[in-house]
Amino acid sequence: MELKRVEMLGFKSFPEKISVEFDRGITAIVGPNGSGKSNISDAVRWVLGEQSARTLRGAKMEDVIFAGTQRRRPVNYAQVTLVLDNSDKKIPIEYDEVSISRRVYRSGESEYTVNQNRCRLKDVQELLMDTGIGKDGYSVIGQGQIDQLLSTKPQERRLIFEEAAGIVKYKTRKETAIKELEEERANLNRVQDILEEIA
Ligand code: ATP
Repeated sequence: MELKRVEMLGFKSFPEKISVEFDRGITAIVGPNGSGKSNISDAVRWVLGEQSARTLRGAKMEDVIFAGTQRRRPVNYAQVTLVLDNSDKKIPIEYDEVSISRRVYRSGESEYTVNQNRCRLKDVQELLMDTGIGKDGYSVIGQGQIDQLLSTKPQERRLIFEEAAGIVKYKTRKETAIKELEEERANLNRVQDILEEIA
């Protein structure tokens, strides 16, 4: 699975639709300070479900929407689309190309699509679990992250290996199942109480 393209519209410093192509091999993005290089990696994190404005170097989520300049009016929404080559079917859907989009309006309303079908953030997260490209995967390594990784607690470092080993999906499902079991157990106890009351 490879990243083929990132399309941005109204995202941070990109008011107009812009598409950044990633060919095979290494792609280097060069440009003067403040020209928007890091905004491209922010766009990738954002579309993968990043919910923290701080991680995206802003104060609130609305800061990802182009705020206008002296010569350009602000825009009303930001949209980013990641186009991934899925010919190896690492993402568990049948298509050879997968496009994941996120759009947010100034009102705060937000939507996600996978291959043009609307879905929830949870669906995007589940789809990307164990592929290594989820928000908490290791596909975007920010400045200082390596240092952080080396100094972090072993338990936290383990999470990265778990993602790489492809077991996060199963761990998450197990946690959900345990929670459901606990709820059902509580329901059963409640039924038992009622039965005893009317016996
Ligand atoms: P450096 O080389 O210094 O790290 P860079 O090329 O990575 O810089 P970025 O940090 O990606 O640059 O881009 C910063 C620019 O993006 C700033 O000029 C900032 O004003 C602009 N910018 C960020 N958010 C918005 C927004 N919501 N609307 C308009 N411009 C924005």
